Amino acid sequence: MEKYYEQLNAKCKEVAKEVIKDNSILSDNMLKREEKEFLLSDWNAFLIGLISDQSVKAEIAWRLPYYLSKRLGHFDFCRITKEETIESLEAIIKEKPALHRYPRKMAEYIFFAVNKIVEEYNSDVKNIWKNDLNAEHVVAKLEEFKGISHKKAALGTLLLVRDFGVILENLYCIDIAYDVHIRRIFLRMGLTDKDNSKDVTSSARKICNEFPGSLTLPFWVAGREYCRPTNPKCEECYLSQFCMKKTEMGKDL
Ligand code: SF4
Repeated sequence: MEKYYEQLNAKCKEVAKEVIKDNSILSDNMLKREEKEFLLSDWNAFLIGLISDQSVKAEIAWRLPYYLSKRLGHFDFCRITKEETIESLEAIIKEKPALHRYPRKMAEYIFFAVNKIVEEYNSDVKNIWKNDLNAEHVVAKLEEFKGISHKKAALGTLLLVRDFGVILENLYCIDIAYDVHIRRIFLRMGLTDKDNSKDVTSSARKICNEFPGSLTLPFWVAGREYCRPTNPKCEECYLSQFCMKKTEMGKDL
């Protein structure tokens, strides 16, 4: 069984290298060049993108910091704390075309985050991990922001490592995402008998204990491309040789 997990992990690593090009937050099919450059130029934009990543498509969330900066005329967190209110931020986000589906909620979350970054992190999001590279601590610190649940904090930390190239330690604490595509595949492959977060998480740790979160992308892409709820394309699927093909399972996911 150990050999099986080892080989499956190796396959996932190989696939991840390929699929990251089209599935990273920073890929060309996700963001326009100027939106991406802005995101890469300022770590504060990363936090605002992460906070916005709810109830909208990922590309809408991650381009929000760029357009917010355009509408504000700057992206200086100190100035925002002095010059803006939740109401003024809400009006800016709401302005047509709206930057988010929930302007009020986003304005509250962003206002809180900006103030927290100014007061506790010397106005720079990078200070969240600059002197403490422990991924577990980064997750805990992100979780202290309004609008960032534990799940989202783990996703944010995963994106920092996977898409933004930040080198963190103790990646074992970043688990695989408990996502519908992944749940369906775990059931069909025979990696778990039950569809619950605990079983999926512990099964993923058996495959890649040092960084279970690294499995999210290869499994998620397989779910989206091949292992659909009905008519799975097993003959084309890169996980085929590792799969028990229990295709009667997970049809409702
Ligand atoms: S081989 Fe078939 S059942 Fe298994 S993960 Fe791929 S598509 Fe799903």
